[in-house]
Amino acid sequence: MIKPRTEEEIELMRENGILVSKTLAEVGKIVAPGVTTLELNRVAETFIRDNGAIPSFLGYDGFPAALCISVNDVVVHGFPSDYVLKEGDIVSVDCGTLYKGWNGDSAYTFPVGEVDAETRKLLDVTKASLYKGIAAAVAGNRTGDIGNAVQTYAESFGFGVVRELEGHGIGRNMHENPGVPNYGRPGKGSKLVEGMTICIEPMINAGTRGVYLARNGWAVHTADRKNSAHYELTVVVRKGHAEQLSTFEYIENI
Ligand code: MG
Ligand code: MG
Repeated sequence: MIKPRTEEEIELMRENGILVSKTLAEVGKIVAPGVTTLELNRVAETFIRDNGAIPSFLGYDGFPAALCISVNDVVVHGFPSDYVLKEGDIVSVDCGTLYKGWNGDSAYTFPVGEVDAETRKLLDVTKASLYKGIAAAVAGNRTGDIGNAVQTYAESFGFGVVRELEGHGIGRNMHENPGVPNYGRPGKGSKLVEGMTICIEPMINAGTRGVYLARNGWAVHTADRKNSAHYELTVVVRKGHAEQLSTFEYIENI
């Protein structure tokens, strides 16, 4: 049984949504060839703490950093490191905040300098697939409608949709029910109720959908070592539409 949020609770979720969105924009400002992923993490953690919030990923199941930073063939859950970003890389940045007892969670994949046309297409299609999913996140639909919208769109370009990881409900805990897969059948899965807050987060691979887990037990890589992109937004399910609680506006207005 998933309890819908009150409008007061949704307002607190929105504050978190704006904070993660602004944090990702701060990171985006410094993404460039020559920058280490640890530096991206440092900027984010400082910004989150300066705003009176807690980086919720830090210490989550032992995760060692404020951000998950996943470069090129890493799908998600990469550790920030002394890796130096280079022209043509893509870097997925996933950010979580805890503020006033509620959670925010969003992700964005940034191109580093100029990327090739196929990679640009992967980024554009993955982000567009997220918006397809959001459009399906309306009261009365089911999680399978979201997953089907994401999957149908991404696969129409020949890309692989990762199935081992999924979106999720979010609230006082970062990961709550229901799970929100990026694939599925219309009319199947958990019912979406007005006031439900969920994260939709397609992870789309340039090649095969297969993945493997790195030996550190965290980083998820594409099986064929081709690039993978990841975009995530938090939304509240409404009647007839989904309302975004986080946004890429701050990033894309840089
Ligand atoms: Mg996330
Ligand atoms: Mg998430």
